[in-house]
Amino acid sequence: MTDRTADVVIIGGAVMGSSVACHLALRDDFKGRIIVVEADPAYEICASARSAASIRQQFSTAINIEISLYGVRFLREIGETLAVNGDRPDIGLKEGGYLFLARPDKAHVLEENHALQKSLGADIALFDTDGLKSRFPWLTVSDLRAGCHGLTGEGWFDGYGLMQAFRKKARSLGVDYDAARAQVAQQANSGWRVSLSTGGTVTTPVVVNCAGASGGPDLCVQAGLNVPVVPRKRCVFTFDCREKLERFPLLIDPSGTYVRPEGTGYICGSAPPSDRDPDSTDLDVDHDLFEEHIWPVLAARVPAFETIRPGAAWAGTYDMNLFDHNAFVGGINGLDGFHLALGFSGHGLQQSPAVGRGLAELITTGSYQTLDLTPLSFERLAANAPIVEKNVV
Ligand SMILES: Cc1cc2nc3c(=O)[nH]c(=O)nc-3n(C[C@H](O)[C@H](O)[C@H](O)COP(=O)(O)OP(=O)(O)OC[C@H]3O[C@@H](n4cnc5c(N)ncnc54)[C@H](O)[C@@H]3O)c2cc1C
Repeated sequence: MTDRTADVVIIGGAVMGSSVACHLALRDDFKGRIIVVEADPAYEICASARSAASIRQQFSTAINIEISLYGVRFLREIGETLAVNGDRPDIGLKEGGYLFLARPDKAHVLEENHALQKSLGADIALFDTDGLKSRFPWLTVSDLRAGCHGLTGEGWFDGYGLMQAFRKKARSLGVDYDAARAQVAQQANSGWRVSLSTGGTVTTPVVVNCAGASGGPDLCVQAGLNVPVVPRKRCVFTFDCREKLERFPLLIDPSGTYVRPEGTGYICGSAPPSDRDPDSTDLDVDHDLFEEHIWPVLAARVPAFETIRPGAAWAGTYDMNLFDHNAFVGGINGLDGFHLALGFSGHGLQQSPAVGRGLAELITTGSYQTLDLTPLSFERLAANAPIVEKNVV
């Protein structure tokens, strides 16, 4: 049993915790001791290892667009930024673009989003149905009015590789990773006491809660905070298709069902109907969702998918923010030193570079220096000022 001190303790060492640790350790003006506490060092159940690992600028809110614009720049340069002793991480970024489709009743929303995305510098093109058909001849467009395709800056990558690249770089810069489950308690005088399941404690002025769906809300309760973040199961299904479909993007059907290439095949998924979406307690795959909901949608949208060969499937958990489907990021009024990076609601992998950088700035200098993440602060809950993101996948 040891009682240690640290300048920053990060709880949860998957993609977000490792990004925060890495960005802190990379700073010349931060010389403190960083400990990351991770309950599952094999990373078997965390969302970061079970994600669809895709990045887009096709959001409806400026903050999410700007976060992902930085995210893709970071992913493009990751080989340089996160190299360790000349060993350059390769996350296989493929900029195949998202393709959001809209029927006539929602075409105006797509157009409004497109105008905002373009104004912020995203490389997104808007097509009418003729344009869609000539660009994607395998697509059924008869019920559509428009579609938006990311020409560059959107696509998919190796999400597990991103997490490991942050982790490896952080460790190379002196960050300690402890394999333990953590609990937090605010100390009477000041600071935080982090108790480890392996025994021992760490006393620190700064805690960052990056514990995701499996631990984040509990840590908040221990700190005296109730967050409207719940675990929601999301399943990913793989399949092969014999026909070769050129320039296949990450396609988002108007129903919300998505599909994208992965290796020589495809992965797809969809949020379950709301009456089949309880807080999740296991990682069992809901195969009926594929049979009853996803495949019929895909076969109607892409006729070549009428004959497919289903493959493996897996389930993961979103840390779903029921308030507005966006993360809580930053410090908390009245809980000095306690920070959140929680509630990413299905877009945390792509947000990990910007959120890691932002929290490192906040912890070191007291404010955001590059991209202002204040819109994601927890205070918006008390102010009842949700950031309404229309494009949640
Ligand atoms: C099926 C699926 C598809 C997705 N697709 C995308 C996508 O295409 N693009 C995208 O950007 N995002 C996507 N996401 C979301 C993304 O994966 C998550 O937002 C992101 O990985 C969250 O990272 P995190 O580090 O915050 O949480 P997690 O990855 O869940 O990690 C939290 C870690 O904290 C640890 N922990 C918990 N409690 C404690 C404790 N008390 N003490 C110590 N350790 C603790 C856990 O063991 C875990 O390793 C998807 C998620 C799922 C499930």
